[in-house]
Amino acid sequence: MDVETRLNDVVSRIRDSESGSNRAAGSAQLVAVSKTFDAEAIRPVIAAGQRVFGENRVQEAQSKWPLLKDKTPEIELHLIGPLQSNKAADAVALFDVIETIDREKIARAVADEIRRQNKPVRVYVQVNTGLEPQKAGIAPDDTEAFVIFCRDEIGLEVEGLMCIPPADENPGPHFALLAKLAARCRLENLSMGMSGDFEIAIQFGATSVRVGSAIFGTR
Ligand SMILES: *Cc1c(COP(=O)(O)O)cnc(C)c1O
Repeated sequence: MDVETRLNDVVSRIRDSESGSNRAAGSAQLVAVSKTFDAEAIRPVIAAGQRVFGENRVQEAQSKWPLLKDKTPEIELHLIGPLQSNKAADAVALFDVIETIDREKIARAVADEIRRQNKPVRVYVQVNTGLEPQKAGIAPDDTEAFVIFCRDEIGLEVEGLMCIPPADENPGPHFALLAKLAARCRLENLSMGMSGDFEIAIQFGATSVRVGSAIFGTR
């Protein structure tokens, strides 16, 4: 199967999941995760019509996306990996959406850069739904206060919540928890679900799914 066929297959599985949950077609956005793949591998996916992409490293994204974005300006790029504050300026300059705001220091650094560069960047707050020590994200109990801080105190445009459930657990309860926290924060967007579980995530209300290997192949 070529990459275009795999992309079309993922898109039709997303449409089936939407209609299976009585949701409008297109209510779950596909973020195609192109990490570790070079521009050569990404171009056919752009040519096939995909416009929203995710990368997990700032430096890697800088090496391929400025040129690709020049050629196709309507591309929307999401940062889905951990961000260090010394990379905040680069991240704000390159990305349209930063999905991994998870602590005050990085929230302030991103807010400062958005003002300094006068570049509107939307953000998600990452929640560590499984309270995994090795994983980034704010604790579920601290989420509401952190969202209020980001939104009201430092003026970030918080679009929604994002999570990566523990790899070895049934993801359903984690998706349900993220949906509950978002409702409490009056946030409408949920970034959840990857190649292995995006259909389940859509059942639980995902408005955006981050799919890499099912489109680009194994890394
Ligand atoms: C790599 C990655 C994905 C995509 O994972 P696949 O299993 O390849 O679909 C999604 N979200 C995050 C945060 C990632 O780092």
